[in-house]
Amino acid sequence: MTSLLFFVLYIAVAALSLPGAAVLTLAAGALFGLVWGVVLVSFASSIGATLAFLVARFILRDSVQKRFGDRLQAINKGIEQEGAFYLFTLRLVPIFPFFLINLLMGLTPIRTLTFYWISQVGMLAGTVVYVNAGTQLAQIESIGGILSPGLVLSFAALGIFPLIGKKVVDWLKKRRVYAKWSKPASFDRNLIVIGGGAAGLVSAYIGAAVKAKVTLVEAEKMGGDCLNYGCVPSKALIKSAKLAHHIRHGADYGLETTEPSFSFRKVMARVHRIIATVEPHDSIERYTELGVEVISGYAKLVDPWTVEIQQNDGQTRRLTSRAVIIAAGARPFVPPLPGLDTVEYLTSDTLWDTFADLDEPPKRLVVLGGGPIGCELSQAFARLGSQVWQVEMGSRVLIREDEEVSELAKASLTEDGVNVMTGHKALRCEREGDHSFIIVEHQGQEHRIEFDALICAVGRVARLTGYGLEELGIPTDRTVGTNEYLETLYPNIFAAGDVAGPYQFTHTAAHQAWYAAVNALFGEFKKFKVDYSVIPWTTFIDPEVARVGLNEQEAGERGIVVDVTRFGIDDLDRAIADSAAHGFVKILTVPGKDRILGVTIVGEHAGDLLAEFVLAMKHGLGLKKILATIHTYPTLAEANKYAAGEWKRANIPHKLLAWVEKYLNWKRR
Ligand SMILES: Cc1cc2nc3c(=O)[nH]c(=O)nc-3n(C[C@H](O)[C@H](O)[C@H](O)COP(=O)(O)OP(=O)(O)OC[C@H]3O[C@@H](n4cnc5c(N)ncnc54)[C@H](O)[C@@H]3O)c2cc1C
Repeated sequence: MTSLLFFVLYIAVAALSLPGAAVLTLAAGALFGLVWGVVLVSFASSIGATLAFLVARFILRDSVQKRFGDRLQAINKGIEQEGAFYLFTLRLVPIFPFFLINLLMGLTPIRTLTFYWISQVGMLAGTVVYVNAGTQLAQIESIGGILSPGLVLSFAALGIFPLIGKKVVDWLKKRRVYAKWSKPASFDRNLIVIGGGAAGLVSAYIGAAVKAKVTLVEAEKMGGDCLNYGCVPSKALIKSAKLAHHIRHGADYGLETTEPSFSFRKVMARVHRIIATVEPHDSIERYTELGVEVISGYAKLVDPWTVEIQQNDGQTRRLTSRAVIIAAGARPFVPPLPGLDTVEYLTSDTLWDTFADLDEPPKRLVVLGGGPIGCELSQAFARLGSQVWQVEMGSRVLIREDEEVSELAKASLTEDGVNVMTGHKALRCEREGDHSFIIVEHQGQEHRIEFDALICAVGRVARLTGYGLEELGIPTDRTVGTNEYLETLYPNIFAAGDVAGPYQFTHTAAHQAWYAAVNALFGEFKKFKVDYSVIPWTTFIDPEVARVGLNEQEAGERGIVVDVTRFGIDDLDRAIADSAAHGFVKILTVPGKDRILGVTIVGEHAGDLLAEFVLAMKHGLGLKKILATIHTYPTLAEANKYAAGEWKRANIPHKLLAWVEKYLNWKRR
């Protein structure tokens, strides 16, 4: 009778999602002993869970969905991908409370019978551990009994059970993904890295530094995008353009203002010379010396451990490796504009070589895209003498930044002669004889722009096809899908850099590379979650736009309340002396506190100035610490200190000061 009553009570508690299932499970051990307790709880909890599941499915669907909307999303996604196995893992490692799993599962398409038996099997181990702890509790006869070895051990088992469960789930998951592949008995390498850009180079470097046997495969040029088509050539071009700009504005410095005369061919030759100067840092020779085997060729994953390499010398090689890092980068996105292929468009991949053959910059240049790359290139070419139309479909350039930043950027591009056409949609390209045109639409009106060159700078897309991801079934959605350890579906295959996202910077690629390499080589001991908490970036227009952490726009979107402090760089001695007195430092802090949540700097060398805030955020230093740090006079970096000073002024302890004033008055008596 007691058993029956207990059984019904347990079912009721579980079915009605009342609190107390865990206590009842312990009680089962105390009342009925291990075997009978487990039998009762196992069936009662599974039946009760299934009733709660049915209640949710048929009655509570709407209200539960309202209440647990976000958590439900995670569960649903899991069910879609892995169905029953996902429920099994939730039962084994209960990261969500028991009642919540029952209710939320009722809202998914899983079958009732499947839910029942998976719940029963999945919860069995946990039930045994809990009931066992209950049997030990029942044996306490005195206070001293609380510390009996049996009780301590059984409760320790309760504590470590989720960890063991997690290990079991990980092991099961691994078995499932690797099931159809046969693992080599031994491996040629510890690590194979696909791609020799920032992410690949740093991964290989770390591997070699810790004495791993590493092979790096690069299909084209060592150094990848950054060295050959991205950061390095664009910054070299920007420098020449800035000099031309200064010459043109000589009067600002008490010099004669003249129109700069130069050979564009020489400017481009300098760009290539600078690439060549940086090249040795990323060269095959350097990496070979560091202990990395570098193979020039195209790599393809043929199974989770084997990479086939079509070498550039025509040979094909297969190598096995315990771990692989995919660092295949991204390529420029070419929009599907009708007629685009009739007008010989350029991208960041092709413009450097194409323009190297020109004596003059293109007379009429269209730049598609109002992002960082589009803005940098538009301004640089305008300063070098091109007539530039920058076409951006959105309402403003640099859309990720605050509106006032976009306005400043637009104003400075416009001042340099760029025709910044925000709110203009590119419709098509047309070719008439030797003449090329782009047709754009603005507020229902079409405009036709004739150009001599057109650069597509509308974003870059991860390289996801052609090297085995499809065959291995590695999920991709704009980027290679990874978890927080940068593991793909296969825990021995990692991804880093542009191919993995979510950022597309050289420094984030290098940052991820550390995590990918360390997790790939030593993950069985300790895995590190990639840390995106403090990510800085800079758009190298003039004035530069640099940011780390939150801006006002994001704080607003995410409903985060912040204090905003500004310091205008127009008030800074050094900026005034340099005729660069424009821009600002804007700091977002926790209300009433000096903890920095984000910083935006617009101004000369903003990217360099930002470093102090990046350090502060990374290491939890507040604005008071920046204020208490000596900054050399007169430097641009003083802007950071003055901005911190502005914060201090806004947070004056008025009450305390009133007492100080009283005290000082009294001292004069
Ligand atoms: C114009 C421009 C300006 C930029 N400016 C900046 C800047 O100022 N600051 C900044 O931080 N970032 C900047 N970037 C972005 C930066 O260049 C990238 O974020 C960075 O290069 C990403 O590095 P990665 O290693 O992920 O990829 P990549 O550098 O693209 O390297 C990937 C490499 O993998 C190789 N590869 C691909 N598939 C295979 C295969 N199957 N087998 C063998 N090899 C393969 C490719 O050939 C390539 O060399 C800029 C980019 C552009 C285009």
